[in-house]
Amino acid sequence: MQEFDVVVIGAGPGGYVAAIRAAQLGFKVACVEKASSLGGTCLNVGCIPSKVLLETAHRFHQAKHEFSEHGISVGEVKIDVPTMLGRKANIVGQLTSGIAQLFQANGITRIEGLGKLRANKTVEITAADGKTSTIQAKKGVILAFGSVPVEIPPARTDGKNIVDSTGALAFDRVPEKLGVIGAGVIGLELGSVWQALGSEVVVFEALENFLPMADKQLATEALKIYKKQGLDIKLGAKVQKAENKGQGVEVTVEVAGEKQVYMFDKLLVAVGRKPNTSQDLVEGTAVKIGERGFIEVDEQCRTAEPGVFAIGDCVRGAMLAHKAEEEGVMAAEVIANEHAEVRYDLIPSVIYTAPEVAWVGKTEEELKAAGIAYNKGDFPFAANGRAKAMNTAAGFVKVLTDAQTGEILGSHIIGPCASELLHELVITMNFYGNSEDITLTMHAHPTLAEAVHEAAMAADNRAIHKVNKKR
Ligand code: NAD
Repeated sequence: MQEFDVVVIGAGPGGYVAAIRAAQLGFKVACVEKASSLGGTCLNVGCIPSKVLLETAHRFHQAKHEFSEHGISVGEVKIDVPTMLGRKANIVGQLTSGIAQLFQANGITRIEGLGKLRANKTVEITAADGKTSTIQAKKGVILAFGSVPVEIPPARTDGKNIVDSTGALAFDRVPEKLGVIGAGVIGLELGSVWQALGSEVVVFEALENFLPMADKQLATEALKIYKKQGLDIKLGAKVQKAENKGQGVEVTVEVAGEKQVYMFDKLLVAVGRKPNTSQDLVEGTAVKIGERGFIEVDEQCRTAEPGVFAIGDCVRGAMLAHKAEEEGVMAAEVIANEHAEVRYDLIPSVIYTAPEVAWVGKTEEELKAAGIAYNKGDFPFAANGRAKAMNTAAGFVKVLTDAQTGEILGSHIIGPCASELLHELVITMNFYGNSEDITLTMHAHPTLAEAVHEAAMAADNRAIHKVNKKR
């Protein structure tokens, strides 16, 4: 039986990062992946392809609606969907083959096939042709099985007109009317893509609250902006039935006790994801799969089976690529007996729409519920020269600090490049820094980052470019 120090099952962002880190630590590593392309959901049908389409959609929207304000005329603006999809496939291909090169450069053995954990850190592999083999891990196994879209009985996907996120990344033309079930991150991002490209989009959200996990002020501003852009978001909307009628999909929804019927060309079901686990993948071991399919792990991602770790979407916590990556690094380092931890309190959240929405740490509602006295500093992009020049002056930066110590407890941004701007705050919070640390840091002018600077100053009532509120 072939032996390795560390065997990783799954080559998504959690698994491939774990494999690379383990190799850096001097281990002989194998990574088992059933797909022919590395990178998992994120690179193949998730984060990356959706960002490619969001970029195209944003540029199309600008060319169509904003260029004239700059005095630029471009004639008729048209979208060639096959070219857009070709660009997407090209970028995905470059990035996934980049991981294959990284594996090679780090001496990682890539094994194609379905990997199953068996007793004593062995891994059974079933290749595409049905042949099985077994490998042995001497030091540790890292399970990075990932997740799959949740299906709901009233709207089963058919891969044609009723699709999940993978299908909505591959429409061969802009649907005239697109229905979306779920106003979560996928529904908003992909709904925005097709809306910006010309679709009439209706989003049905079962909850009454919009983005309940986000700070309320941020969620309220986001809803206002999305609606202004033309996304028709219906809250408290319960989808009862979705039927593929050949030419389109008939969707029956109950909103505030009233039955409504809609016809769409395409329907996207984006009601969450679930762990890609089953008992068969861990049979004969002590690894425990909980009720909702998550593998049970401790703070350092150890399962109940000695030497076996589980990371990413198949374990508790946010289903985010960057959380999976950090857990992958941690698991590899724990196997190497190094000190390692993940700052679970500082996982950045981003919705990559235009404008972007990004946050980290506590919301105002959480601070209130915990009885923590806080100061709030906010600053609108409308008062930021760079945002004005970019014609993206909607939104704000909000910083929440401990009223006693000034430590930044929460950061919330909606506006241009929010995902990038957030990281100045994430770093400060990672070092338990306070708003003064940002206040005393010189920020180049004119930049969007000045809005972060001003928000930090506003927390101490000393913003320069806005009138501070009396406390
Ligand atoms: P989600 O959990 O973010 O949102 C699903 C939404 O659907 C919720 O608001 C829920 O209330 C609603 N819903 C559930 N059942 C419904 C029903 N029957 N009718 C109407 N609404 C219903 O899930 P998602 O958007 O599918 O994303 C899946 C996962 O992928 C999430 O964990 C998300 O964090 C992750 N993801 C992250 C990003 C990002 O970070 N930018 C992008 C895409 C996906």
